[in-house]
Amino acid sequence: MKNLLKIIGAMLLLLIVTVLVKTFLFKSKQVSVQPYKPLLLNDSCVANLQKAISFKTISYDDAAKMDSSAFYGFQAFLVENYPLVFSKMEVEKVNIFSLILHWKGKSATAKPVILMAHQDVVPIEEATKEQWEVNPFSGEVKDGFVYGRGAIDDKGSLIAILEGAEHLLKQGFIPQADIYFVFGHDEEIMGLKGAKTMAQLFKDRKVDPAFVLDEGGIVTEFKVPGLNKTAAVVGIAEKGYQTLKLKISIPGGHSSMPESKTAIDELARAIVALKDNPFEASLGTTVKRFLDYIGPEMPFVSKMAMANQWLFTPMIKNIYSKTPTGNATIRTTTATTIFNAGIKENLIPGEAEAIVNFRTQPGVTRAHVIAHVKKVIANESIEIEPQGDGNEPTQVADVKDESFKYLQKTISAYKKDIVVAPYLVLGATDGRYFANISSQVFRFIPFTDPEGFHGVNERIKITEFKKGIGFYYELMKGI
Ligand SMILES: [Zn+2]
Repeated sequence: MKNLLKIIGAMLLLLIVTVLVKTFLFKSKQVSVQPYKPLLLNDSCVANLQKAISFKTISYDDAAKMDSSAFYGFQAFLVENYPLVFSKMEVEKVNIFSLILHWKGKSATAKPVILMAHQDVVPIEEATKEQWEVNPFSGEVKDGFVYGRGAIDDKGSLIAILEGAEHLLKQGFIPQADIYFVFGHDEEIMGLKGAKTMAQLFKDRKVDPAFVLDEGGIVTEFKVPGLNKTAAVVGIAEKGYQTLKLKISIPGGHSSMPESKTAIDELARAIVALKDNPFEASLGTTVKRFLDYIGPEMPFVSKMAMANQWLFTPMIKNIYSKTPTGNATIRTTTATTIFNAGIKENLIPGEAEAIVNFRTQPGVTRAHVIAHVKKVIANESIEIEPQGDGNEPTQVADVKDESFKYLQKTISAYKKDIVVAPYLVLGATDGRYFANISSQVFRFIPFTDPEGFHGVNERIKITEFKKGIGFYYELMKGI
């Protein structure tokens, strides 16, 4: 008995020592660089953003509602206000409204870089119109912010890129490598005519970029729980998107004499089973990378957990599972979005159908989703029908590659003591199509805690916008 206690004691001691040593060896992955000199900017950049917002380049679900004159107007405005960009770069239009600008670099062998932003915006929801403090397409300035649809998503970034480039051209700058600007016109409705077509063009032309940068991650003061520093989260992969229709037919009848099984009961059972049996949680490469970069900057206890993922993974999964965002980060999510059955109160319908939307983690394919659903619902009479093509999750960018290091360095010089961390993007961006031509697709805009994204009072702080221009300026200069 005494010996047993000794052995247990020794093992416990070994465990504690291992955990502490691993915590001690868990070194910061942040880089320290000199902040760059702020770019001297007058307010013409702000006026340009205001004007850009005033064009109603709205993407509607019904593509026929598109106002092409708004897009023509927007592009004429760009040509007029960025004369050097549009005269020195090769301009190509794809499917009429999407734009590719090609800035030729000095080197014939250096790999090009692609910077992306989109021209289109989401509509203003009728029900929320009254909640806007200003006209959403006026581009009004109020309390140091530029308000309006697109201020953040994504005209803020598009205009900042062009401002940065126009400045560099004024100075006679020529980049080392080729730089492309890719400005889609239908990001908000899947980007099929814009980004998807353009990515295919690049593929056909055998363009092999060093990296691609699109929207996605942001700078945040408070959105990383437990971290008391400013963080810049850079998307290194994007989840996939699959939708299934579940359908069942069982002869119905009068509600006074119900059969033991009805279409509604059976389908409801299947939907509840899907809810009760979620996909398995897994930290995956993206979450592990995130913890590797964030962990060393955290207070001791959190740092210890992240340094010892071999021991604390169940605990980390448990914490993540508790919030919708955390949960979506560590597993493929299941959401039933439509449920249809029945037309009359005393009639049992013979058919019921439901639409279930899945957001898949890297590595989870449509085949995996269907297999999971079949197993969980375990009901042969329910038909499973994929809706549309969906998107597979993208490949995961390599953070050890020079391209990530370069991006990290540029972001680190943007704000003092900023923590740069790679992460998994839960929504969808145009960048996903470029994951077919490069593994190094990053998703990040250089703005801090943007507000009103897809909602009311979308706005960007003028000081943030100007800093963002400085970021793109430095990024292009250093390429
Ligand atoms: Zn966007």
